Amino acid sequence: MTNFTQDFNKPKPKSVEGTYSTNQRNKGGAEKERKKTNQTNKSNVKWPQYGANPSVLFNSLEINIIVEGELMRTKGFISFIQAWHMLNTTSVHKRSVLIPGFEYNSMPDDIQKIFYTILIEKENANIYCNLKNYEDLFNRQDVQGPFLFLSKTLDKAKKVKNIAYKLHKELRFFTLDNEGRLSGFANNEISAKQAIVPADEVFKVMNVITQCYPASRLIHGIIDKGKTVYDDQGNEITLLQEFMSNAASITYRTNQTGILAKIYAPNVLRTTYFENKTELMLQKPIRRKGIGWPVSKLYDVNGCFVGAMIPQAEGLPLMQSVLGEEQLKLNFPRWNKKDLCELTICILEHIIFLQDRHIFFGCINPQSIFVKDKNQVYFVDMDCYQIEGYPCVSQNITFQPPELQMSGIRKRLYTQQTENYEIAELAFMLMMPGKTPYAKEKNTDMAQSIANMRFPFSWSGQPGNLDVDRPSGRWRFVWSHLGGLKRDFYNTFMSGKEFNAPEKRKSPRFWLHEVQIFRKDLEHPYDLESLELFPKTFKRDAKTQFFKCPYCGIEYPKFYFYRKYFDTPYRICNSCLNTPSDKFFECISSYHASADRKFIYSKKMAIFHRLAADQNPDWHKQRYCSECKHIRLQVYKKLRCRNCDCSFDFTFGQKEDYDKRFGIDNWKLPNYCPDCQKKRKQF
Ligand SMILES: [Zn+2]
Ligand SMILES: [Zn+2]
Ligand SMILES: [Zn+2]
Repeated sequence: MTNFTQDFNKPKPKSVEGTYSTNQRNKGGAEKERKKTNQTNKSNVKWPQYGANPSVLFNSLEINIIVEGELMRTKGFISFIQAWHMLNTTSVHKRSVLIPGFEYNSMPDDIQKIFYTILIEKENANIYCNLKNYEDLFNRQDVQGPFLFLSKTLDKAKKVKNIAYKLHKELRFFTLDNEGRLSGFANNEISAKQAIVPADEVFKVMNVITQCYPASRLIHGIIDKGKTVYDDQGNEITLLQEFMSNAASITYRTNQTGILAKIYAPNVLRTTYFENKTELMLQKPIRRKGIGWPVSKLYDVNGCFVGAMIPQAEGLPLMQSVLGEEQLKLNFPRWNKKDLCELTICILEHIIFLQDRHIFFGCINPQSIFVKDKNQVYFVDMDCYQIEGYPCVSQNITFQPPELQMSGIRKRLYTQQTENYEIAELAFMLMMPGKTPYAKEKNTDMAQSIANMRFPFSWSGQPGNLDVDRPSGRWRFVWSHLGGLKRDFYNTFMSGKEFNAPEKRKSPRFWLHEVQIFRKDLEHPYDLESLELFPKTFKRDAKTQFFKCPYCGIEYPKFYFYRKYFDTPYRICNSCLNTPSDKFFECISSYHASADRKFIYSKKMAIFHRLAADQNPDWHKQRYCSECKHIRLQVYKKLRCRNCDCSFDFTFGQKEDYDKRFGIDNWKLPNYCPDCQKKRKQF
């Protein structure tokens, strides 16, 4: 291939050496000539080899080194740039790598902050701002090749190589290993690429629901625990205790090891839907540990279809095992965020396996995903799959994409676009254990809130949706530690952003790749708190100062403190603000209904009273609870003033005070309105 290009596409080089020296002497002339002959600027550069360490690159003075954004988030690049910095401080000459501004800006702010010192201040990198793309870079007169392109992914490297080739620039690409040495693109890319799928395992993609017909024979009697059913071979299978159920079926353990029996309810067997769908599924030899796939149909004693035999699954549904702090503590007390990433990777790999075969979820039912351990996940319910023209049976508002929320259609075939939405949502709910991306708006239901895309989290200075309440501290802490995933989730769920439109949504392979990167970053987290499933505070970075809350002893950035009290001796964090204090008052009203008169102040109220007492010597302790305060404002009697004839109110509060002062009912109603009373007193 290389020979072909050299022989036919380009004029024969005079001598490789000569071309190079011409360029050196007369760049402008060579440039013109190159354009004319449509020739890539091949030089006699001594290219570094795989395994070359940063010092080899540092000393390859004729090569311009470009670094791509994703690579900067790897361990390899950190090792590389640290070594580079050492060379810059110890060598006679100075060098910078070249980073296009758009690549640098694609990094989350917190990572940019970390890099600011080593990249920019120490001049180890030259950031080329004002570039829109790689074309702009290669078209610049002041940036000369040949180029060595350092990339995280092979795809990106190939893309940029292509651009360079079109603009006649010589470019070679590499990636970096963990030690920062030049490396080829290893096999870890493979899982994120299209796997080779045997053709006989792939279903058709349909856009019309397959019709089903009334079943020709109906089953008699109820088939449940203790009953016998028969498989395709006529083997007897006894149903033991229930394993799980959905609206259409109950799945039983059986007397056969490793085999479950899914038995449909008589009413759903009135049509051929489940029998035909099972038949279709049985035609494809789909076998993967963890994927619940029928291995045989099941029949009653009369030979009527009643269900399917599926492989045994283990573990507990996602909702009961992983999606929540309590669940995680109970089932996986030793897990940290890396384990959760590995579970997510395992689930996404199952999903990718299915989608490569055009098996869709339609509406993910988290109850059908069973977790035994981080690398042992079972998709237990075959009814959840959409196969060709057979829709899935589950309907789940939470996993319906915004554009379908208000459609009112119950049964439909889902598409890759809707799949992409629910997989992104599942990834979100795993990384933020149990939290759904959209918040419920006041006065509307959840469906409408999802349709309105009320995503409450902010990213990189861009706010979350302002029509819903800000998430509580604990979710904001989890969110702040999600690294690059924050950008991905924000752009997916926030209305109008980069991956938000149905056709712009990212595929499960993208999410797999991103979670893998995040998992890798957690090998050497900048902040150890990032390893916690529920971090106690925001992620630290090089720039933000943290302050200790005197109440909980946890450190937060300034913005997380109650602003009004920050510069007083009563500094308090948002988490503590509404927790109980040791201060209280007792309601003294005779109207008080319950026996318990003690009211404990929140810390916020306690501080408020304390400050008020400090500033105002007349401030007195609270005496009435809010309920009694309300009663005391009500009118006990309407009175008429003897002096000015105005009408005035005598309240329950006044009555209570009179009772206290003069003894119960040992007093007379006032004759004069408050104004006239005052005047009379003055005389
Ligand atoms: Zn606190
Ligand atoms: Zn009271
Ligand atoms: Zn009066």
